[in-house]
Amino acid sequence: MSKKLTKEEIERYSRQIILFGEEGQEKLKSTTVLVAGAGGLGSAVLYYLVAAGIGKLIVIDDGLVELSNLQRQILYTVNDIGKPKVFVAAEKLRKLNPHVEIIPVNKRITKELLEEYIKDVDVAVDALDNWEARAVLDSVCYKNNIPYVHAGVEGFYGQITFIIPGKTPCLRCIFPMKKPGEKKVIPVASTTPGILGVLEANEVIKYVVGVGEVLSNNLLVYNGLYNTFEVIEIKANNCRICYE
Ligand SMILES: [Zn+2]
Repeated sequence: MSKKLTKEEIERYSRQIILFGEEGQEKLKSTTVLVAGAGGLGSAVLYYLVAAGIGKLIVIDDGLVELSNLQRQILYTVNDIGKPKVFVAAEKLRKLNPHVEIIPVNKRITKELLEEYIKDVDVAVDALDNWEARAVLDSVCYKNNIPYVHAGVEGFYGQITFIIPGKTPCLRCIFPMKKPGEKKVIPVASTTPGILGVLEANEVIKYVVGVGEVLSNNLLVYNGLYNTFEVIEIKANNCRICYE
């Protein structure tokens, strides 16, 4: 059921209410999003989903803020080093928008943990930095019929797609999850997770409000060195994993 907006919320969101009406804004307010990962992608996704007025956000990450995070994880400052990311993030984001309910979960992503939270979730966001956790998110979302946005970054490159269980291939059918020799420390330009994270937030907003088109059955590939955004069609092939 759609939640009504307060007078203050109508003023806060006035610029986007012009775009998709109070009805669209109420849809955002009635939506619960799970964000897996509160790092570089997560910082951007969370900032913009909270600014846009998503009703409820569940943020899962078990990391502590490190000095080497600050180059790209814009939710954190030097004062936060050593603290759990999700708690710092929740505190900052509540200051940005107290109308959003934020549930920080300072735990490692496992199947059991996701199963605990996924049932009330409308859309999930992959803001992770490793394929092992992604495979878990993929499997839990697919089995529970939860649509989710995937993005990944490395260097000046990134990719993003919107997965709808039953309508698009699952993540493991798009990417071979066995990444031989996956690097322990992935090089990342400061701006890449920001750009991809904002695109992820934009996909969620469009999907919830029902405007434009999401990147379902399409993979957007970003090249920050040569300024290209290429959209590649993904064929709905015989998905052996997602229909098992
Ligand atoms: Zn599949």
